[in-house]
Amino acid sequence: MANDYYATLGVRRDASADEVKKAYRRLARELHPDVNPDPETQEKFKEITQAYEVLSDPKKREMYDLGADPFAPGGGAGAGGFGGAGFPFSDIMDAFFGTATSRGPRSRARRGRNATLRVELDLQETAFGTTRELSIDTAVVCTSCTGSGCAPGTHPETCETCHGRGEVQQVQRSFLGQVMTARPCPQCGGFGSVIRTPCPECSGDGRVRTRRTVKVKIPAGVENGIHIQLAGEGEVGPGGGPPGDLFLEIVEKQHAIFAREADDLHCTVEIPMTAAALGTGVTIETLDGAEEIDIKPGTQSGQVITLYGRGVRHLNESGRGDLNIHVNVETPGKLDEEQEELLRTLAKLRGEERPPGKFAPGQRGVFSRLRDVFNQH
Ligand SMILES: [Zn+2]
Ligand SMILES: [Zn+2]
Repeated sequence: MANDYYATLGVRRDASADEVKKAYRRLARELHPDVNPDPETQEKFKEITQAYEVLSDPKKREMYDLGADPFAPGGGAGAGGFGGAGFPFSDIMDAFFGTATSRGPRSRARRGRNATLRVELDLQETAFGTTRELSIDTAVVCTSCTGSGCAPGTHPETCETCHGRGEVQQVQRSFLGQVMTARPCPQCGGFGSVIRTPCPECSGDGRVRTRRTVKVKIPAGVENGIHIQLAGEGEVGPGGGPPGDLFLEIVEKQHAIFAREADDLHCTVEIPMTAAALGTGVTIETLDGAEEIDIKPGTQSGQVITLYGRGVRHLNESGRGDLNIHVNVETPGKLDEEQEELLRTLAKLRGEERPPGKFAPGQRGVFSRLRDVFNQH
């Protein structure tokens, strides 16, 4: 037979169930991986647990005595009631110690928190992208203890209260009889170890607060409210845990001239009535510098001149939005005598001294839309 389970547990072949249990309990305390993490001990712990699993079950023990080893290759599978070799060890531990909630000691190292930083950008920067040096208040790994939290030359010691398990069992009396419960060890806070002499630099936290400068490249096309995730640029966790992420929240400053709508820009230029009628050239500022635009003779107020590709760059793709120039025709307010005389002459020549009230195409459109709405219902 491959495995001698009686020898593994150090009991006689006629040992009672109670003796088997006691033998396993004694060995398990000694060899538990949380107490003794070296690989050889862990292997031994596996063996005694395997032995106990077979010998503690009357049915399995009987079959084992008859020569069937459920853990031997090919043995036991389908031999009636054996779970096979894939039996999770934690199950048997739970059954034995009554610690269904057992999770073992928790790690001191935890992931650091995420941080959010607001970054104010002007339109020029969001349109074309920019590089910023940002200074952030964050936590970095303590160089004195490299995150362990222990004073130089010291190590965490196995907790004497829980023997490194991170939790303590309690027997409680209830109407069902005695019940075993587990709770985090009060001595070590569930870590399974205690730091006797904390690192003086970080007071045992494993990290120190500092001000750090990060250089970030902000892509073209970002807009107000967008979050840029910088993985791993947040603060490091306690106990040397991995860092969280840093999120940049983009706040776009209002531009004096341009209003942004997605990647398109809008602005308004004012043209004197005479220039709108006669046509002219106007120099306007764009994101790309001064540009001469052509106002055609007879330009109407509200007309839009579009400069294609003069807007904001698309985020993560090529191309740009457009710049829409809304023309506003200014009607002269104060006229001197000569100007009034000229305009009256012009009005007479054009037969516009008493023009009829005439609906503009847009307003006719409003009525036809209304009619459509009524016809639909
Ligand atoms: Zn430290
Ligand atoms: Zn403890």
